[in-house]
Amino acid sequence: MSARLAPPKLGQRIGYEAGRIVVPDDPIIPFIEGDGTGPDIWNATRYVVDGTLQKVYGGKRKAAWYEVFAGDKANLKYGEYLPQETLDALKQYRVSIKGPLSTPVGGGIRSLNVTLRQILDLYACVRPVRYFNGVPSPVKEPQKVDMVIFRENTEDVYAGIEWPAGSEQAKNIIGFLNKLERRSTKIREGSAIGIKPVSEFWGYEVASKEFGDVTIPESEIDGGKADGKIVIKDRIADSMFQQVLLRPAEYSVLATTNLNGDYLSDALAAQVGGLGMAPGSNESDEVAIFEATHGTAPKYANQDRVNPGSLILSAVMMLRHLGWFEAAEAIERAIAKTIDQKRVTYDLERQMAGAKLLKTSEFGRAIVENV
Ligand code: NAP
Repeated sequence: MSARLAPPKLGQRIGYEAGRIVVPDDPIIPFIEGDGTGPDIWNATRYVVDGTLQKVYGGKRKAAWYEVFAGDKANLKYGEYLPQETLDALKQYRVSIKGPLSTPVGGGIRSLNVTLRQILDLYACVRPVRYFNGVPSPVKEPQKVDMVIFRENTEDVYAGIEWPAGSEQAKNIIGFLNKLERRSTKIREGSAIGIKPVSEFWGYEVASKEFGDVTIPESEIDGGKADGKIVIKDRIADSMFQQVLLRPAEYSVLATTNLNGDYLSDALAAQVGGLGMAPGSNESDEVAIFEATHGTAPKYANQDRVNPGSLILSAVMMLRHLGWFEAAEAIERAIAKTIDQKRVTYDLERQMAGAKLLKTSEFGRAIVENV
């Protein structure tokens, strides 16, 4: 690792053996605070995780937090937004957590989040969506939503292969495509071009070859009985948007391509009360980064105001990933209890009758109190 980033002072590195991570009792966990409201929600999250680990394991297990830099803080420190030593640390220590990062506007800088996913080949974006009792929702039965979305994370239009209208490359590609035989429609001259690569790398084949004993395609179900197997239902994207609204109880896991998965996970998060409560992770076989799914909400930066729920629930996913299930469940129960007590941040308070308005940090303290 480069000398610009001091090595961690405490903790041990998470190992990897036989396809699984091996977690010590004091794992080094890199964190990226994030831009905008990132520091506010990160401070609350760290407080909740540390407080819960202490209460649940009495000091036997603890996180050895290790700050690494990306976004505005990295730019101030190193003059670049995503330093190589940060990428090295995220890879080397295998499990990390991050706040939201702003995408610098102009200058051709790509989204740091997308870049992280592509460089580290974090091919799965995992987003569990569930309802917490009492959270204001725009639908009648939000409790029926309980799904985990597995969204392909490195391909599709996010691969970023695109050329502006009128560019030489766009003209060449249009010329090439319009010359192809058997094409009934022609691309209009002067169009911009974006390429959507999608491989056959995952999906049905894994379900049938690796998990054929526990899965069954919907088309093979005999007389409506699946014999306790997981039913694989093929749905086109527009139909799926209807299904998650009209029949959410019929779906537990969604496996989707990148862009559709992005839309679907935000739509589902809205159904259960908004992005302030939606967690997520980006994972490869060996490396996982847990992150808030919303952006930096810059207008609320440093006001100790926004909902830290998304990052705290991402930390809950991280604790499960580490195998620290008792702590994960304790936080989840405490969040449910805190919301049930109507002690919430502004985004929920403004929609809940009789709720008590808490700051970001106060919400974190209320959760630990309820653990
Ligand atoms: P945003 O930061 O998600 O904020 C949009 C609105 O969502 C906020 O004004 C606020 O609504 C609500 N919101 C977001 N986070 C909240 C929280 N923790 N608690 C309560 N309400 C919350 O979206 P944006 O303004 O489009 O994007 C800002 C920057 O974030 C951009 O630079 C974008 O590129 C970046 N971004 C980063 C990530 C990431 O790091 N994963 C993801 C998306 C966007 P109200 O105003 O109604 O209160």
